[in-house]
Amino acid sequence: MLVGTDENKSTRGSSQEPRNDARVFTKTCALMASQAAHTGALASRAAASRGTSAPSRRASLAPARRRAAVLAARAARPADRRFRRSAAAAASGRDGASGAELADSDDYEYEDSEFFDDEDGGWSVDGELSVEELNAINDARSDANADGTYFDSYSHIGIHREMIGDAARTGAYLKALEGHADALKGKVVLDVGCGTGILSMFAARAGARKVYAVDASGITRHTRRLVKENGFEDVIEVITARMEDVTAKDIPEPVDCVVSEWMGYALFFESMLPSVVHARDKFMRPGGLVLPNVADVRVALLEDQNRYDDGVSFWDDVYGFDFSSLASQTKRDWSSDPPVATVDPNCIVSDKEGALVVRVDCASVPLGDLYEPMAGTVELVAEKDCVAHGLCLWFDVDFYGRAFLSTSPSSTKTHWYQTVLMFEAPHAMRAGDALVANVELEPGSDPGAKRQLNVYANYDVVTAENARRKARDADETLPDDREHFAQWTVQ
Ligand code: SAH
Repeated sequence: MLVGTDENKSTRGSSQEPRNDARVFTKTCALMASQAAHTGALASRAAASRGTSAPSRRASLAPARRRAAVLAARAARPADRRFRRSAAAAASGRDGASGAELADSDDYEYEDSEFFDDEDGGWSVDGELSVEELNAINDARSDANADGTYFDSYSHIGIHREMIGDAARTGAYLKALEGHADALKGKVVLDVGCGTGILSMFAARAGARKVYAVDASGITRHTRRLVKENGFEDVIEVITARMEDVTAKDIPEPVDCVVSEWMGYALFFESMLPSVVHARDKFMRPGGLVLPNVADVRVALLEDQNRYDDGVSFWDDVYGFDFSSLASQTKRDWSSDPPVATVDPNCIVSDKEGALVVRVDCASVPLGDLYEPMAGTVELVAEKDCVAHGLCLWFDVDFYGRAFLSTSPSSTKTHWYQTVLMFEAPHAMRAGDALVANVELEPGSDPGAKRQLNVYANYDVVTAENARRKARDADETLPDDREHFAQWTVQ
């Protein structure tokens, strides 16, 4: 198991908390201050380079977007759990190195191609900023060490064993590629972040004429051999490089399909989607397939008395001593590093399908949008009298309806589990009451932290009678000052 714990939680349901129909604010933390400072500085820099001034970070949440602030968002921090585990393994003896050794390719005059039209041999996209500008911002927010360590974490087979062994995940990609065999027959596929090459082999077996398999991690030393051992050396070309550094010299033809398994915890953790979108815009012919093509982030109300008792009530009486002041540390930990764990579907006390926070159309989303926070307003109606301890967050991805992967609590367990966002204090709710929340997902903004994800929620618990009206007016009535937001940092 990669992270988290298997927990058989049960709903014990009773709450000491007073019923709270008033607006509920959860104060945020110290992190905000330092983060805002960093973001502000970066935003100013990004804005200055474009000759505009940076808007305030405290601007209203939605729909107005703090573009400049977000241009500062998305720098590299390798501190995902996948990374952490393999980094520990790496420290105890690495079995290989990452590095870019671009595959040899025939000379290619991209200037002559209708498919490549910028200096880098790729499409110029995004009306406001060019791909190069966006990447420059991305690079400014990363640091080479962080990216290096991130890719090193993928150079060990343990992490790939874990992913391939996740049958729901790998099976969905198999179904998606085989389900598109007609469209892939004789066609060219780009596998962004190929790892061991498993998806490339699915594509080749489904009939692709050529597959470009790109990965910046040292795992490709195995990938090349595996490709050969399985007889695909004439079809699959392994390129060891950061996707962003791949040029028309490496991929000298437009591709018909981009496939990638880029999803991280809470979907956006790891910040890999921009690399996929960048590749799409640079190498895919118009109208090509992007697998998966749609990604949804969903949330539901969580009643998790066991977790609450383990982390908070536990300290009330420790062998007769009062350790209750430690509960605030637990709450800080829940906020700064939310649990990634299997959530018992019985702990979901609103609609088990979850409420949609954001939907990303991976086939068309502009690269620039991925540098901005994404937000959605949800209304989570309690299906029974309960105590809401937090939100349960997960994602689903779709492959043009031919395959579907859900990481919800009621679906087959995956290595992404669910992300648990515990509230500062539980809220007693009656059946029909609603928690109206504006949930915002913001890519990490500190230099060296682009792979982390900040989640903000401003929410209000309302009675059944007021629920409809509040939900309708949510954008006007919910506060936009982030000091009042609940915040979690997925790292
Ligand atoms: N496709 C494989 C591995 C998925 S994990 C599978 O399905 O099993 C994601 C992979 O993407 C990792 O191996 C990581 O090294 C690679 N990766 C992430 N960002 C990348 C980038 N910008 N350029 C190249 N490879 C990248």
